[in-house]
Amino acid sequence: MPIRVAIVGSGPSGFYTAEALAKSDADCEIDMIERLPAPHGLIRYGVAPDHQTTKNVSRNFNKTAARDEFRYYGNVDIGSDVSLDDLRGMYDAVVLAIGSPEDNKLGIPGEDKQGVIGSAAFVGWYNGHPDFVELNPDLASANVCVIGNGNVAIDIARLLVKTREELSPSDITNDSLDALQASSVTDVFMLGRRGPVEAKFTNVELREMGKLENCAPQIDGSIIPDAVPEDEDMSDRDRRLRERNLATLREFVPRQPDEFEKRVHFQFYAAPREILGGDKVEGVRLERTEVVDGRAVGTGEFFEIETSLVLPAVGYRSSGLEGLPFNDDWGVAISDEGRAGEGLYVVGWIKRGPTGVIGTNRPDGQEAARQILEDISEGTKPGRAALEAALAAKGTRIVNYQDWLRLDAHEKAEARDGAPREKVITVAAMLEVLDGG
Ligand SMILES: Cc1cc2nc3c(=O)[nH]c(=O)nc-3n(C[C@H](O)[C@H](O)[C@H](O)COP(=O)(O)OP(=O)(O)OC[C@H]3O[C@@H](n4cnc5c(N)ncnc54)[C@H](O)[C@@H]3O)c2cc1C
Repeated sequence: MPIRVAIVGSGPSGFYTAEALAKSDADCEIDMIERLPAPHGLIRYGVAPDHQTTKNVSRNFNKTAARDEFRYYGNVDIGSDVSLDDLRGMYDAVVLAIGSPEDNKLGIPGEDKQGVIGSAAFVGWYNGHPDFVELNPDLASANVCVIGNGNVAIDIARLLVKTREELSPSDITNDSLDALQASSVTDVFMLGRRGPVEAKFTNVELREMGKLENCAPQIDGSIIPDAVPEDEDMSDRDRRLRERNLATLREFVPRQPDEFEKRVHFQFYAAPREILGGDKVEGVRLERTEVVDGRAVGTGEFFEIETSLVLPAVGYRSSGLEGLPFNDDWGVAISDEGRAGEGLYVVGWIKRGPTGVIGTNRPDGQEAARQILEDISEGTKPGRAALEAALAAKGTRIVNYQDWLRLDAHEKAEARDGAPREKVITVAAMLEVLDGG
């Protein structure tokens, strides 16, 4: 009997696991279960819409999906449509590739005020994620504070200041494009607790900020160190990356504030201490910091930025899934290098936390495939026959990969001029495209 494997989640870690299993010599049936109709996780719904080349990796996933042993069960939520325990009863192995979809908290007073929107929601909104289509962010503020110094923060800042011409060739949804173009935003403050040396931006993304059509990056040159300080724990590669970032930031120093209509202000050594206002955000109170032993320490000097929109991009977490051993402090699964129980495995962000690039998930998938084939020599469970029976009893409309390819073709056909696609943004509308008259 084939080994019957269910992979829950269709992001990179799920697809890399499927690919590794499919390429092994073992006789496997691989069923991928995804709560949304559309596959590919954060490649579709996280990676910035104006970074289309990064999204091309999903073409390789289509090759895996075309294999005979592979089936896709989209629009199926593990937890509500079928429980994890029931799924484990149906399959020889269950691999959870469910990511870390929730925002970390800032942990400061006022962060629940209206106008504080975490990056998961804001990025989901401009990327057409069905959970966030109703977000309707209030973009009437001239100033916006983006909290965080990583690539997600820089993606958000860039999307807020790009022109229609710059954004139009992307797959940002028409609704979000119109809302951003109608916004009053002129000044985006990128707030980092630590300094330019500690910033986590990659250099390509940082340099992009210097090449925008209607926005000039702003930074106070006096805070940029002449060189990356000596640190024996730092690899040569890491040192070179940081030096490149410092060089890019130095190029921003002479840029004039009145050069364009919009500005992105790189404010380092600035720790948010309180979100100000009543029910709605009116500003952010920050404390100047200095970096001591790699940590940001407050100096006792405070300042405020007036704004009605605060977008924290300070990392992600998961809140787990019933039946999964889980570390609630860290927001990740408890596992022994990916083994989370008998026949239960974790890969990607739910295993490691939200770090690394798309390719970092590939070794996870390979390791999970190796572990499954080491642990299980022959299949004994019914697999997809049992899953399909349970879903039929519930009346769930399964979206298979052929359906997805039809939806994909529909989105491409509906694209505005020069754009790769116009995403269908609600589950009901996706099912209407597939089944409607
Ligand atoms: C805003 C943002 C931008 C990024 N940009 C880049 C970039 O430019 N380049 C780069 O290399 N990396 C980028 N990354 C990182 C990259 O996206 C991640 O490394 C990768 O997506 C993690 O893969 P994953 O499979 O663990 O999770 P995900 O991609 O999150 O996939 C998880 C999948 O599981 C599904 N799921 C969750 N719960 C259930 C359930 N109960 N039942 C069924 N399905 C479920 C979800 O719907 C989702 O499709 C970015 C990340 C973010 C957040």
